[in-house]
Amino acid sequence: MPPVIGISTRPRVVPTSGGELGVDSVQHTYRDAVQRAGGIPLLLAPVPDAHIEVLLDRLHGLVLTGGGDVDPATYGSDERDRVYAVDGRRDAFEFALTRGAQARKMPVLAICRGLQVVNVALGGTLIEDIPTALSGPAASDGGHAQRGDAAFRAHQAVNLEPGCLLARTLGTTDLMVNSIHHQAVRRIAPGLRTVGAAADGVIEAIEADDESWPLLAVQWHPEYLSDAGDAASHRLFAALVAAADVEAAGRR
Ligand code: MN
Repeated sequence: MPPVIGISTRPRVVPTSGGELGVDSVQHTYRDAVQRAGGIPLLLAPVPDAHIEVLLDRLHGLVLTGGGDVDPATYGSDERDRVYAVDGRRDAFEFALTRGAQARKMPVLAICRGLQVVNVALGGTLIEDIPTALSGPAASDGGHAQRGDAAFRAHQAVNLEPGCLLARTLGTTDLMVNSIHHQAVRRIAPGLRTVGAAADGVIEAIEADDESWPLLAVQWHPEYLSDAGDAASHRLFAALVAAADVEAAGRR
């Protein structure tokens, strides 16, 4: 029985025949990557905290997806000017999913915003805007916020800690990636550790100290690379689905 992988969605306003309406949506690349890996993708709409455990009972793994910025107020920052597409309900939902997943050691693949969500949910903080934080002669977006083809690898090299779960899954400690982010981890949350960084010091990958919680969290976008046929990126989704299969077997 294939494991069920919950995929968080993004609130948007889209034109419809009934006028502009709010929808919860996510790019097909996420569900396609989960399906290619053998999982059943289930798109998640936000639910109140009281329903989180009931929802998690029906999932075997979780993908926390990209999207707008986490509200800086949730990590004690009063930054308002350089943050985009904040949605408090999505933040609260994904924070609750993260804490619930950690408590039951549910497999999680956290991508871009998802990595940032995991860090803030567990007590960390974020750099609100990388170009502002990297001020100085070398100031630029550092390739962190590429435009155009989402599967193009415009980012500087990412170096992974040898032996970390991510390096073992990808089969390398040195990789070129795509990248669409302007925020990053500032202070890492208790219980998490940095396992990958770019040459400019920006944190690109984190994992749990507790190796019995299969958490893979990356700042780049393996769903686009997997969609473009990249075997290593596919292995991240395959690892999630394999771990979710173990989770499912434990409940049968
Ligand atoms: Mn980056």
